[in-house]
Amino acid sequence: MRQPIEIKTKVRLSNFDPAETYGLTKEKTREATRGLLERIGGLQAKLYANTDRALLVVLQGMDAAGKDGATRSLLEFVNPSGVDVANFKAPSAEELAHDFLWRVHQVVPRYGHIGVFNRSHYEDVLVVRVLKLAPKEVWSKRYVQINRFEETLAESGYTILKFFLHISRKEQATRLRARLDDPAKNWKFEGADLLMRARWDDFMEAYGDVLNKCSPAHARWHLIPADKKWVRDFLIARRVCEALESMALEWPKPKEDLSKYRVR
Ligand code: ATP
Ligand code: MG
Repeated sequence: MRQPIEIKTKVRLSNFDPAETYGLTKEKTREATRGLLERIGGLQAKLYANTDRALLVVLQGMDAAGKDGATRSLLEFVNPSGVDVANFKAPSAEELAHDFLWRVHQVVPRYGHIGVFNRSHYEDVLVVRVLKLAPKEVWSKRYVQINRFEETLAESGYTILKFFLHISRKEQATRLRARLDDPAKNWKFEGADLLMRARWDDFMEAYGDVLNKCSPAHARWHLIPADKKWVRDFLIARRVCEALESMALEWPKPKEDLSKYRVR
C-alpha cells in the first residue's frame, strides 16, 4: 500500500491522492468486496447475539464524497434489524439548546448492533469551525472532549472505526454537476453545497486537524481515497470485516442447562 489507510502518525492531507487505486483492478476488487460484505453479514449475526459489544462506523467527507453510497454498500448483506444508521444534519433548536454531544450520545448504536454515523459529532469541529458557527474558544476544546467521549464508548464495549472519504475537488465538481443535470439527483443539490465548496481549503485544513488530533488507538481515523467508488467500498469493507473478526465474537452460552428440554 502506497499510502496509509489507518492514521497512526501525523499526516498532511495534500500528500494523499484521492484517486489512488493501489494497483487494484475494478472487476476483481468488486468481487473481493462482495466476499467481504457477505462475511460481514455472517459476523453481524454473531454480534447481534451479544449484549455488551457494538460496532460504530463514522463516515465523514465533503458533499458528494459518497457517505450514502458507502453506507449502502457496507450494509448490503446485513440484517437491517441489527443496524442503526444516524444522519447528522444542521442541529435543531432543541439540539442547540444542549451540549454538542447530547444528540450524538442518543443515537449511539445499541449493544449487538452495527451503527453508522453519516456525518457525526465531527461536524462540530468542521463546518462549525469553517463557517464560524461557534467561537474558537468553544470549538477548539472539542477535540479533547470528543476524544474523551469516544474513550468512554470504547471502554464500554464499542469498537469505533472512523472513515474520512477523501475526494478531489475535481471529482466533487463532477458529482455536483450530475446533481444539477440529472432529474433523479436534483433533490440532492443544495445551493449551500457551493458555499462549502468555495471554502474547500479551509475544510481540508479542518479535516487535517481532525485526523491529527482525534485518532487514538481505540478510535482510529482511516483515510479512504474516494474518487473511485469501488476502491472506497473495498477499503471500508476490508477494515470493517477485520474489526468484526478481531472482536472474536462467540455465540452466547445458554443461560440454563438446555439438556433438560425436549421439543415434542
Ligand atoms: P451529501 O454528502 O450527499 O450532500 P449531506 O450529508 O451533505 O449529504 P445534507 O442533508 O445535504 O446531507 O446536509 C447536512 C448538512 O448538515 C451538511 O451541510 C452539514 O455540514 C450540516 N451539519 C451537520 N452537523 C452540523 C452541525 N453540528 N452544525 C452545523 N451544520 C451541521
Ligand atoms: Mg449535502
